[in-house]
Amino acid sequence: MTFRASVLTLYPDMFPGLLGTSLAGRALEEGAWSLETKNIRDFATDKHRTVDDTPAGGGAGMVLKCDVLAAALDSVADGRPMLAMSPRGKTLTQAKVRDLVAGEGAIILCGRFEGFDERIFEARDVEPVSVGDYILSGGEIPAMLLLDACIRLLPGVMGAASSGEEESFEQGLLEYPHYTRPVEWEGRTIPEVLRSGDHARIARWREERAREDTRLRRPDLWDAHGERSGQSPSGAQRKK
Ligand code: SAH
Repeated sequence: MTFRASVLTLYPDMFPGLLGTSLAGRALEEGAWSLETKNIRDFATDKHRTVDDTPAGGGAGMVLKCDVLAAALDSVADGRPMLAMSPRGKTLTQAKVRDLVAGEGAIILCGRFEGFDERIFEARDVEPVSVGDYILSGGEIPAMLLLDACIRLLPGVMGAASSGEEESFEQGLLEYPHYTRPVEWEGRTIPEVLRSGDHARIARWREERAREDTRLRRPDLWDAHGERSGQSPSGAQRKK
């Protein structure tokens, strides 16, 4: 089954862009996913093809018009989830990516300027999705980011199918660190355990490092991991 992506943007020429090369590009050629782009401007109704207007209440910038956005969404709506890239959404997670990949695809709305007239979220079943707590100039890179995360999980896309499961976030933890040859480089050696051939020891070391690195680098993930596994990993240290 092909994962069908429809991207609504003012810059359809940006696509497939990064997604046209390497793993995603090959998957596109092989039909693991398909890409349709629509220019939001084609859904403007006046002779100047206006897509934006000044913010109600005043202030800087321009706001994408809800009537134009609705027409663009309605032109592709077919039951696939509709997502609008927006810093005001919940931050994308690997769990959300897994959810999307289990479906038939996604309709993705890319913002520009100050973003969308808020009424689009009331009038249509469109979910705001953020890619992190920083501001980009448009939703196109976030859309590509989301699609890249989905595409690599599609059946047959990743070489070794197993490499998906152990990765960072899949178990609610960061993945363990990796090493490869040379064994010694600038005076630093690969940890002895990884060269021991003792698979049980290696597995224990990896699990330990995954837990330790998560606890130190991502206390937020570590706390959530504890809640899910019914333990309190950082014990009395936990803030809430
Ligand atoms: N004024 C808005 C930011 C607009 S940035 C605010 O402060 O919330 C313009 C567009 O870029 C947005 O509509 C969105 O589509 C995209 N964008 C910027 N940062 C993003 C992020 N962190 N996640 C997802 N989309 C983002």
